Amino acid sequence: MPEPKQNYVNGEWVAAESGDTVDVTNPADNTEVVNTYHYGGESDAEAAVEAASAAQDAWADMPAPDRGAILRETGAILEERKEELTELLTREEGKPLSSASGEVQRAIDIFYYYAEKAMDFGGTVKGASGGRTSVSTRKEPVGVAGLITPWNYPIAIPAWKMAPALATGNAVVLKPATQAPGPALELAKALDEAGAPDGIVNVVVGSGSSVGTTLTDSEDVDAVSFTGSTQVGLQVYDAATDDTKRAQAEMGGKNPTIVTDSADVDQAVDIVGVGAFGVTGQACTATSRAIVHTDVYDEFVAGITEYAESLDIGPGLDDPGMGPHVNEGEFESTLDYVDIAKTEGATHEFGGDRVDEGDLSDGYFVTPAVFSDVTPDMRLFQEEVFGPVLAVTEVEDFDEAIEVANDTEYGLSASVVTDDLAEAHEFIDRTESGVAKVNEKTTGLELHVPFGGYKQSSTNTFREQGDAAIDFFTQTKTVYMNH
Ligand code: NAD
Repeated sequence: MPEPKQNYVNGEWVAAESGDTVDVTNPADNTEVVNTYHYGGESDAEAAVEAASAAQDAWADMPAPDRGAILRETGAILEERKEELTELLTREEGKPLSSASGEVQRAIDIFYYYAEKAMDFGGTVKGASGGRTSVSTRKEPVGVAGLITPWNYPIAIPAWKMAPALATGNAVVLKPATQAPGPALELAKALDEAGAPDGIVNVVVGSGSSVGTTLTDSEDVDAVSFTGSTQVGLQVYDAATDDTKRAQAEMGGKNPTIVTDSADVDQAVDIVGVGAFGVTGQACTATSRAIVHTDVYDEFVAGITEYAESLDIGPGLDDPGMGPHVNEGEFESTLDYVDIAKTEGATHEFGGDRVDEGDLSDGYFVTPAVFSDVTPDMRLFQEEVFGPVLAVTEVEDFDEAIEVANDTEYGLSASVVTDDLAEAHEFIDRTESGVAKVNEKTTGLELHVPFGGYKQSSTNTFREQGDAAIDFFTQTKTVYMNH
């Protein structure tokens, strides 16, 4: 049996102090252990925070272009290993190879992007009211950043938190999700090889209740950036801000696509189908509700049902249309929601069945599900399923569509399919979501623009990605200079 993989603390690969380990099994075949990891606890997290704290000043003093050069080299190392990282991601998280490859490429691009941002890192100079005086601003790192990430984008999300934090002179301690920690440890390996000084990057695999809470509670952690469920995110935010840490939590979604009477229905079916069932619905921005005008409703329901029926399901390594759920808990949760939807009286059009035959019987496979006649009072309409289950709701007009789309506690991503420019603008004005898309799926983001949600999808303190991430990981000093 291969040796358990170690955590990365203070520039070294180390075992968990307790000696505990955790197995990651293949979502497509739970009889196969893909990797075993040292399972860190409080003392391991404390050692990582201490190392980060000791190393951060010197890293902040390094000229920003030199930090950028290390990030650029990290991007190059990841690029060399793209194929190997893609396979690791698929084996641990389960998504089809083509999606995993896209995600690894995103991580590479993020490191290149923030390498250049480090060159740009500075401030502004302004005129002042007094003579021979100038006022300028400069951005300084926050200090030590605790990063807590989910399993569903196990390389892109760690990258989009680590790269801007490091570019701006912070040291980081990352706690990846236990279901798929391998890709985050690979980021640490690439940073180490690219020359990141000891202590600047630390990755500790462990539970939320030990490693996670050590990060939120430690006095030596200055900022906490969390991505995950709303339930955990709100707790993390409360714990982190208890001692005035800077904190952001990006959380769940219940993302709608509105299909108007002017929509091209075939196009709408493709947009909703990819948004709902791509990556097995396990995306925070996945389309989980289609809100459809009565004039095109029947045609849309028939089209999306056919789309779901036509998807091929299989192990991610075969690059199918749809892969498995990440683990038993997520798999059972999807099956529970299918039962709930049936009990609530939604019309079951297709899917939601456990795939229990042949090679797939040991994996967490469920056929993509479509329910129509879903109403806003149903749990299927309101709660995040985080699996391939689409709720379709019929509306009489565009106004009702917007009201119904906004009628949940979440507000991450929303889209409209329409051929009417006025409707497109009306949707952008009125959607209560951090991302608004016209004639596009709710999933898929650019890396250089802000990302975050409204309502319970975000603490709405800061956005992520682009320049917004630089804002989160820095504080502004205003300098008055009288010469
Ligand atoms: P989760 O909330 O269960 O876990 C997220 C992370 O928090 C994990 O690393 C977990 O170990 C850690 N954690 C758990 N309890 C903790 C505690 N008390 N203190 C500190 N850390 C703790 O989420 P998940 O199941 O890994 O991911 C799925 C969820 O993430 C979905 O709700 C999805 O919508 C959301 N998500 C949101 C975004 C976004 O950008 N808005 C992106 C991806 C996923």
